[in-house]
Amino acid sequence: MTVRLGIMGGTFDPIHNVHLLKASEAAHRLGLDEVVFIPAGRPWQRDLRTVSDAEERYAMTKLAVAADSRFTASRMELDRPGPTYTVDTLRELRRIHGPRTRLFFIAGADVLASIGTWHESRSLTDLAHFVFCSRQGYERVDVAPTLGDRVTLLHVPVWEISSTAIRRRVSRGQPIRYLVPDPVLDHIAHRGLYRAGVR
Ligand code: ATP
Ligand code: MG
Repeated sequence: MTVRLGIMGGTFDPIHNVHLLKASEAAHRLGLDEVVFIPAGRPWQRDLRTVSDAEERYAMTKLAVAADSRFTASRMELDRPGPTYTVDTLRELRRIHGPRTRLFFIAGADVLASIGTWHESRSLTDLAHFVFCSRQGYERVDVAPTLGDRVTLLHVPVWEISSTAIRRRVSRGQPIRYLVPDPVLDHIAHRGLYRAGVR
């Protein structure tokens, strides 16, 4: 039997409810059996001095997916040395799961705008089908011709939440309840994350 595996990559600093909602909607619309959330170990396109510790981001991801039996969290990008490249992750997943698993990489429309700058970007759509969910502010981004036809655009209209906005709210003492799952809320409070200021 063919397994349809969704992949949610991201910095997840922190993971928030729209990440979960888009994964759920993609799973429903594309008939995915499972969605694995993979926090980036060393997101090389970000200023690494300002990104929270990978173990904290992984801990929050694990807490966030625990309540949904379709969702899992993977530390494969934390455990791989060097900069985190999605192409390596897709190759590793392909090796682990074999040819009978179909891979679907789920991302927001903002990623569509920058994916051409990713490492070995031309190989990405050979390795997985790409699913881009709509995101406020990115309605007019076109699919790069290099991505070919292994791309699906999913219109999922929801309010805009970003990890950046959540970090800012915490640093200002504003509530983030209902923007992130409660266990993530508790983790952020107990560990004192994001208090220092906006990044
Ligand atoms: P940051 O503000 O730190 O960039 P983010 O909210 O964009 O955080 P990321 O970890 O950068 O979250 O993104 C992980 C994935 O989730 C990306 O594919 C991104 O496009 C998608 N995503 C995040 N928030 C939304 C949203 N509100 N709508 C659609 N896609 C989203
Ligand atoms: Mg982002």
